[in-house]
Amino acid sequence: MDCLFCAIIKGDIPSKKVYEDGDCYAFLDINPQAPVHFLVVPKAHIGSADEITEDNAAAVARIFAAIPKIAAQLGLTNGYRVITNVGEDGCQSVKHLHFHVLGGRKLPESMA
Ligand code: AMP
Ligand code: ZN
Repeated sequence: MDCLFCAIIKGDIPSKKVYEDGDCYAFLDINPQAPVHFLVVPKAHIGSADEITEDNAAAVARIFAAIPKIAAQLGLTNGYRVITNVGEDGCQSVKHLHFHVLGGRKLPESMA
């Protein structure tokens, strides 16, 4: 399968890793939208949040357990935002589930 984030997880494409465990991988976004902007992805390919099922939900739970650790490590002591874009209307450009974590400044109230 031709998937950018699977290639990043494998190390075939370089990334700035900020966290890794058995189930998830986190790296800095190449085009940051805030002073701190990283992506957290499951190592096992899931296309988007629309493909989360009872069978793969544990990997998503592990991602959410990792996010506070990574946020603390990167100095996000005053809050942050977690976003996942889904499909065409959600403007998802990479078809491997990823959670954007943004912070380091006060973010706009508007989410859409
Ligand atoms: P989305 O539009 O929600 O699918 O987000 C995809 C994100 O991946 C964007 O914020 C891109 O800046 C980011 N991105 C694309 N290619 C890379 C890469 N090689 N390394 C790090 N982030 C990337
Ligand atoms: Zn993938």
